[in-house]
Amino acid sequence: MNSQQTEHCIVCATPLLYSNQVANRVCFLCGKKEISAIVCPEGHFICNACHGDSSLVNLPKQIEKARGYSPEDILETLMQVPGLPMHGPEHHALAGLALLLACERNGVDLPDNYIDEVMRRSIQIPGGACGYLGTCGGAVSLGIAVSIVTKATPLTGLARGMANRASALALLRCSDDQPRCCKRALRRTVAAGRDFFKDELGIAFPPPNASQQCKDISRNNECAQDRCPYFRQIHRDRHNA
Ligand SMILES: [Zn+2]
Ligand SMILES: [Zn+2]
Repeated sequence: MNSQQTEHCIVCATPLLYSNQVANRVCFLCGKKEISAIVCPEGHFICNACHGDSSLVNLPKQIEKARGYSPEDILETLMQVPGLPMHGPEHHALAGLALLLACERNGVDLPDNYIDEVMRRSIQIPGGACGYLGTCGGAVSLGIAVSIVTKATPLTGLARGMANRASALALLRCSDDQPRCCKRALRRTVAAGRDFFKDELGIAFPPPNASQQCKDISRNNECAQDRCPYFRQIHRDRHNA
């Protein structure tokens, strides 16, 4: 797969159509039927599971590589996982995962299976949820992370409230009136998570060391550029020239 194919249709690299109409579609790769509004103009449809396969296979190794104690630093490494497209539902776990890895390294007690659990829960959020459901999947991964830390269930009181407030905070931070960018959403969600963990859970993370300047601008057709806080200064200069 060349880099061109990681931003559009992963079969033929044509920009995808995000329609207002759903239809029954058959996955070009595995044959599974799924209802979706997103399709390639050439007719290729890739189901959510197949879309995530290449990067999810590589994720365990990338988690080992993700050093550091700050969730921002961990997220920057996770986002370099080989095979991660420009956009797509495979991003949905990564902000929550970065926050939970940071929690563990800062001495927070977590269930043994928390990595599997954040993956299992976030994978249920379909691609395009930000636009179609009004719920960015990356932002919701903050709610998932808080739910895992507080052991929330539908029957708990405070823990359930906290998980919902966490998602709400991240969603507000991600509601920036720009076309979706999964990288921007993850960075905004981790920033919201840093504040939430400190204010509501008393968990303070050390400040980040790594740069959060975006490394994916050249492959994002809908980059918000100057309206994105992670747009690189070097690109801003070139854009203004
Ligand atoms: Zn195609
Ligand atoms: Zn498939």
